[in-house]
This record gives sequence, C-alpha cells and structure tokens, in this order.
Amino acid sequence: MNKNFHIARKRFGQNFLQDVAIIQNIVDALNCVGDENIICEIGPGLGALTLPLLQKFKKINVIEIDKDLIYKLKNDNPFKAYFENNNLIIHEQDALKFELANLISNNQKIHLIGNLPYNISTPLLFRFLQQINNISEMIFMLQKEVVDRIIAKANSKDFGRLSVMMQTFFYVEKLFDVPPESFIPAPKVMSSVIRIIPKNNYLNIFDNSAKNAEKTEKIFPNLVEKYTFFIKTAFAQKRKTLHNNFKNTEFDILEKYQEELNLDFKKVRAENISIENFIALFNLSQK
Ligand code: SAM
Repeated sequence: MNKNFHIARKRFGQNFLQDVAIIQNIVDALNCVGDENIICEIGPGLGALTLPLLQKFKKINVIEIDKDLIYKLKNDNPFKAYFENNNLIIHEQDALKFELANLISNNQKIHLIGNLPYNISTPLLFRFLQQINNISEMIFMLQKEVVDRIIAKANSKDFGRLSVMMQTFFYVEKLFDVPPESFIPAPKVMSSVIRIIPKNNYLNIFDNSAKNAEKTEKIFPNLVEKYTFFIKTAFAQKRKTLHNNFKNTEFDILEKYQEELNLDFKKVRAENISIENFIALFNLSQK
C-alpha cells in the first residue's frame, strides 16, 4: 500500500486540497512577513497548505484531531524533519476546544489559516470570535454558501445571524472561489476563501464598556454573549417583524426608540436592519 494512503474521513470533514495554484494563493493571502508572527493552521490534514507555509515561515503551529494524520505528519517526509526541528508544532486537539492564548507569550497576535472542516465551520468561527483578542487575521476556506452569508448586506437573501455576528466584530472580504475538483475527494459544493480581520475598534463597539482598557477587555466576552442572544432573538423567526420577535422578551422596551432610529418595528424584519442599527439597538437595550 502507498504510504501516503489515507481514506478521507467524512466525520472530520476531510476534503484534501490538490490544486497547487489555489494552495499557493491561500498561503500568499496571509498578510505577514518575517519570523515574529505566530501562525496557526487549523486542520493540516495531509499537509497541502502546511508544506508551503513551512517553506515560507520559520515556525508553524497546527491543530489536528485525526490521530492517523498526526502520525503521518510526525513520521512521513517531508514533515518529519520540520517536526523534529521544532519548525512544525503539532497540537493534537479539537480546534473547537483549543485555547489560542496558549500560543502567545507576549502581546503578539495569531494569524490563523485553514481549509476548515465544513461540518464544524460555523461553530469554529464563533469559537474564534470568543478569542478575537488573540487574533490578527484569519484566512479560511469555507463553503461558498457560508462565505456568501458572512459577507451579505442587509436586505439581501443571504443576510442573517452569521452576517451580523461576523460583520459586527470583523472586516470580512471574500478573496476567491474554489471549484470542487480542486479537492480529493471533491465536495458537492463550491468553496470560497475569505479574509477575516478584527475591527480596530472592536473593544469599543459596546458603549457600556468600561473606560479602563483592562476592564473593557474583561467584560467584553460577557457583552459578546449578550449580543449573541440579542441577535438570535431578532432573527428568531426570519419572516416575522422585529415587533413580533421582540414581543414578550427583554428587548420589547426597544420599541420606544423606533423614531430615534427611524425604524418601524411593525414593518421591518431583522433582515432589513443594518449592522450599525443592530449595535445601536443593543446598546440601547443595555441602558
Ligand atoms: N488542510 C488540509 C487540506 O487543505 O488539504 C485538510 C483540510 S480538511 C477540509 C479539514 C481538516 O481538519 C482535516 O485534516 C480534519 O482531520 C481536520 N479536523 C476536523 N475536525 C477537526 C477539529 N475539531 N479539530 C482539529 N482539526 C479538525
């Protein structure tokens, strides 16, 4: 049997990249130079992105859940030498549980990259949102449909919870589409690569953040959690108006600000509300 043989595991969302030009474009999308950056790949798999990353940067962290693939990265050429020389640091873990803070020793931030397992891509994005303070940028391959939802604007069919949650905290930019035949096995859907960068002012999005920077950072996760619940409530039933979705919830008090924000809660649905207005409404709800 070929020693490179590995049967792709569906439960780990394994679709391995094979298109050299696409692989290079993804690696080149990383906006970092020099050896001071912390780079972390989610799901290295058979190393399609890992090898060009190792050729470009001195040290690469990878987080992988599949024990067979971890074994191969440690023991097969060309990865074995990188692993033994500590250029390739392998974290044998579930990326959903991984603490990015463990990779950081001073004030550095992490560049995340990965062809994400599609079955857990949205939970992974939410997990990284929780750890936004450790992140410099994310270059991810996702299903095209998920990327289209992340970048969608209000009043378009793809605009929903994911668009609001991501665009509230991050600058998002679709880079390019990738066809199924660029992978083995080929997925059933188109894929896209997206660049996601934390907004410069993300800590000041919520106006009841404490003035003291240290304190602001401390209460921020709690506010993100509350905001997540607020957005979930607004989109609870997509076809219903804000009036109906907020009825009998803690957010029904927001109706008194309708005029100020020029919104008619009995007419508009969550899909019609801009990110700026969602933030404004949330801040009013916390007064
Ligand atoms: N980077 C490789 C490539 O582009 O060919 C593989 C990408 S494949 C779509 C997803 C990878 O994520 C697989 O290697 C899979 O085993 C790994 N994976 C799946 N679930 C994971 C999890 N919860 N934590 C860490 N890695 C995971």
